[in-house]
Amino acid sequence: MTTQQSIVICGGAFAGLALALALRQGLGAGVPIVVADPALANRPSRDPRATAIVAACRRLFETLGVWNEVAGTAQPILDMVVTDSKLEDATRPTFLTFTGEVEPGEPFAHMVENRYLIEALASRAEAEGVELRATAVTGNDVRPGGVMVSLADGSTIDASLLVAADGARSRLRERAGIATHGWEYDQSGIVVTVGHERDHQGRAEEHFLPAGPFAILPLTGRRSSLVWTEKRADAARIVALAEEEFHAELEQRFGLHLGEIKALDKPRAFPLHYFVARSFIAERLALVGDAAHVIHPIAGQGLNLGLKDVAALAETIVDAVRLGIDPGQPDVLERYQRWRRFDTMAMGFATNTLNVLFSNESALLRSVRDIGLGLVDRMPPLKNAFIRQAAGLTGEMPRLLKGEAL
Ligand SMILES: Cc1cc2nc3c(=O)[nH]c(=O)nc-3n(C[C@H](O)[C@H](O)[C@H](O)COP(=O)(O)OP(=O)(O)OC[C@H]3O[C@@H](n4cnc5c(N)ncnc54)[C@H](O)[C@@H]3O)c2cc1C
Repeated sequence: MTTQQSIVICGGAFAGLALALALRQGLGAGVPIVVADPALANRPSRDPRATAIVAACRRLFETLGVWNEVAGTAQPILDMVVTDSKLEDATRPTFLTFTGEVEPGEPFAHMVENRYLIEALASRAEAEGVELRATAVTGNDVRPGGVMVSLADGSTIDASLLVAADGARSRLRERAGIATHGWEYDQSGIVVTVGHERDHQGRAEEHFLPAGPFAILPLTGRRSSLVWTEKRADAARIVALAEEEFHAELEQRFGLHLGEIKALDKPRAFPLHYFVARSFIAERLALVGDAAHVIHPIAGQGLNLGLKDVAALAETIVDAVRLGIDPGQPDVLERYQRWRRFDTMAMGFATNTLNVLFSNESALLRSVRDIGLGLVDRMPPLKNAFIRQAAGLTGEMPRLLKGEAL
């Protein structure tokens, strides 16, 4: 038996760990899979945030064998309401409602708490023989037939491919000279978990307010996760407020329809931006997740897009290796890039358009968008098409997103 070169993944968060597991399951023990990330030293993760995981990505997690680990703490989104009003309006009239099943008994999305999902991925990867290294990638030198990856602990790994899953500020992307196209929004997303007196009944709410969307996303128990968009300066001011003043700002937007409310953790503001890398690949390098693209959270699709990269790259690599082809070869990486880059640009365009249309106080624009929402609401086939699109069940789907093992 010949010893195969490793595949090294830089970054052990959602994208990196899901890819490692998919590769391990598709390739078996013959190809060593290494994930390097200093954050792996801080397990279990204490990330208080939650993420909407759409149906296609839930199928991926199910196929990878991690969904069972998080299912008990995941909250299905059973329906969704969309409103459009001014901050000071006494009521928030509903313009659009969605009931949330893509197939009978299969909700279009679940809210999953980040800490549970990261731990489930890391434990499963470890149990299946992925090598987790709690250290940073510091260098990558391409040489004939491979890439020598250097780690901060002083070791080196001879790899056929290095994958950058190192997030929005990817050093590997920068080092490879890959430029990005995009901009910063004058908006931040305030994230906080809120406890409430009454049950949310699995309902997600998207309130379009003049500063941007205010999303109430249901968690298990009488809790919801908020993604609350404000202008950057306002967001910085709001998260710095004393508890009582913060509560007043929160209540003005949240309302009292779920009874008394209370912030359960410290609000944090994330400056929002958008970019797509000009290339998703370089010599012996592939970018996945936020290293390749960051989009506005208006539709809760950022990680879902990253998981599509994971599913497409894993499938491309596994197909190549089974044919005896070196997975770091340019035509293998080109196949991955062709598969993912256009879809990413299309999602980026859609989320930018939504943000321009809805984070806006123009009375004219407001009438136009409200007529549009009302029309969609009266057309069940169109609504259905939107739900399937949002659930990631359209286009050329990689096998893992269809729930098929590699
Ligand atoms: C307010 C807000 C709300 C959101 N809500 C949603 C949602 O509901 N649904 C959704 O799909 N998406 C959502 N997103 C987007 C989602 O959070 C991101 O897309 C996702 O976290 C990206 O995961 P990732 O694994 O690609 O990168 P990251 O989570 O950024 O992880 C990168 C990892 O790389 C490691 N790393 C960095 N440099 C190195 C190095 N040199 N060596 C080794 N490791 C390194 C880091 O330690 C880190 O662990 C939201 C984003 C925001 C800002």
